[in-house]
Amino acid sequence: MRRISHWVGGKPMPGSSGRSGPVWNPATGERQASVDLASADEVDHAVAVAKAAFPDWRATSLARRAEVMFRFRELVSANREDLAFLVAAEHGKVLSDALGEVARGLENVDFACGIPHLLKGGYTEQAATGIDVHSVRQPLGVVAGVTPFNFPAMVPLWMIANALACGNTFVLKPSERDPSAPLLLAELLREAGLPDGCFNVVNGDAAAVERLLEHPDVAAVSFVGSTAVAERVHETGTRNGKRVQALGGAKNHMLVLPDADLDVAADAAVSAAYGSAGERCMAISVLLVIDSVADALITRIRDRIPRIKVGPAAGDDSEMGPLITAEHRDRVAGHLEAASAEGATVLVDGREGVPPCGFFLGPSLIDGVRPGMRCYDDEIFGPVLAVTRVADYAEGLRLINENRYGNGTAIFTRDGGAARRFEFEVNAGMVGINVPIPTPVGYYSFGGWKASLFGDRHMYGPEGVDFYTRSKVVTSRWPDPASSTVDLGFPQNR
Ligand code: NAD
Repeated sequence: MRRISHWVGGKPMPGSSGRSGPVWNPATGERQASVDLASADEVDHAVAVAKAAFPDWRATSLARRAEVMFRFRELVSANREDLAFLVAAEHGKVLSDALGEVARGLENVDFACGIPHLLKGGYTEQAATGIDVHSVRQPLGVVAGVTPFNFPAMVPLWMIANALACGNTFVLKPSERDPSAPLLLAELLREAGLPDGCFNVVNGDAAAVERLLEHPDVAAVSFVGSTAVAERVHETGTRNGKRVQALGGAKNHMLVLPDADLDVAADAAVSAAYGSAGERCMAISVLLVIDSVADALITRIRDRIPRIKVGPAAGDDSEMGPLITAEHRDRVAGHLEAASAEGATVLVDGREGVPPCGFFLGPSLIDGVRPGMRCYDDEIFGPVLAVTRVADYAEGLRLINENRYGNGTAIFTRDGGAARRFEFEVNAGMVGINVPIPTPVGYYSFGGWKASLFGDRHMYGPEGVDFYTRSKVVTSRWPDPASSTVDLGFPQNR
């Protein structure tokens, strides 16, 4: 059985806790590896190594830090297939999707290559007579990242590119379900010239996260995962004096107005609901459609579903892979059971006709879904699209704004005025206009509202640079000793 360990001080570090967890092959249902689960002592060791590496790394010139990022960018690009292969093998998503994940992660390295420009401060000459003022942004120290299973390469890259470029050192605790891609990223960072100790990976579960949250030498924590854990991580981390950004779950609604092109809307809904088997925090999970076009849209969606090729990531023509574990597949399937019991209509049942081995569930479609039903209120995180029929734009908007989550949302229409009004009125952090998955490019920032984000900084892009640095304002004077006097008054601008 292959064993997956930690990466500390620029090399692999075998676990010593005596605890390990299974890494499944979701396409076959077989256990393919064991991952070491770190103890508090092992986390402490990784933090100590990162702390020791910090003074030299933060003193390294911006030109040199940018050079490391440029080299890292080239290495990730050259190794994108290997990274995608590791993602596909452990997560189960199909190769084309895994390659897309690596490409979106790479955008964050592109952005971090511009760190000399991004860290430029402000300067004011002659703020008062003979006095100049300038501001700089400095790194925080050791920062930690805790990442979810659904983007094992991209979400770590959301964090580490900016954090390292800003001069911090890093301890990553990836998802224990698919831990291999982050370890390849660690090797590539070393190859790019990042000094040993600046980037460390501790594999583990809640116990490792708890230790990072209480460790006095961890200055900040970036978290991405489910809402219940995100909220706890934010509470515990901030109580312990850390800066925390904690991105949580989602329930993304797509509103289709009657004037929309229904074929375009159907293509978008199917792609965004079933891509990556619905295991995306930006997946569309509720389709809000105005009554007058609901039947026509549902017909188009039902036509498309049987054409989706469900199969293993390695399959040549697979478009949708399995779910991450058997328990998760069963939990998602349980929503179909509950939906029928609560009075909704399961139009397409993904439990039928899927490959017999592995953790597969086919695309599912439920009509007649209303708030209060489990399949509306819960984040399902699987290939299930719920249709909620609404009377008009106002009812659709109200449902989106009343939802506890506010990650992404989308409107489909050919009416520019309606789209503009939606953009203005909707309470969500990321909005798509005829774009079902509006994940911002790397030079904007990613984050939801409401229960989709705890903390006040979105992730990556300009807000990422803000999060990983703190500002310092320097007031300076080079006085002429001849004119120096004692002045007990409060300093004023003169
Ligand atoms: P998860 O919350 O179970 O796990 C996320 C991370 O937290 C993992 O590293 C895990 O080991 C750790 N963890 C789990 N339980 C913990 C606990 N009790 N205490 C401390 N740490 C704990 O999430 P997941 O199942 O890996 O990922 C799916 C979830 O992530 C979905 O809810 C999805 O919406 C969300 N997600 C959100 C975004 C976003 O940007 N908002 C992006 C990707 C995924």
